[in-house]
Amino acid sequence: MSAPTSGRAPEATFGAVPPADEVTAGWWRATGEHRLTVQTCGCGHTQHPPRALCTGCGATDLLTLAPTEGTGVVDSFTVVHRAPRPDLPTPYVVARVRLAEGPILLTRLEGAGVGKEPDSWRIGDPVSVAWHDLDDGRALPYFVPAVTGTDQHHREA
Ligand SMILES: [Zn+2]
Repeated sequence: MSAPTSGRAPEATFGAVPPADEVTAGWWRATGEHRLTVQTCGCGHTQHPPRALCTGCGATDLLTLAPTEGTGVVDSFTVVHRAPRPDLPTPYVVARVRLAEGPILLTRLEGAGVGKEPDSWRIGDPVSVAWHDLDDGRALPYFVPAVTGTDQHHREA
């Protein structure tokens, strides 16, 4: 096994999934049920990924996992044309998605099913969570174009 190339975030791809530890176990357990959660603190702070302490107030005993709506907007993204591993199909889109609850998730964008090409994503695009099931019972969240009730205009050719 060679070390991953520098400059990439291997956890952002479907090719390398970090193991759960005692801090992230609850978050991963929820993914197995296709529930996207974020850590919230008694002080009102919300954060992701799960940490042992609150980055807002430093508390270690006030953190709980709260459900999210599973929606957000694209904060930034990169279209990857050269994968760090040859078995990863390209191009794919690595993105930071700002959840409706506030925290940012490092994730993937997928739009093939609805004709959204990798290069057609824009910052600010509304997205909804979808899930890629892993063999170990966990699942990886990724995001697809959101279907919003206020955006049902019909284009005429
Ligand atoms: Zn706090």
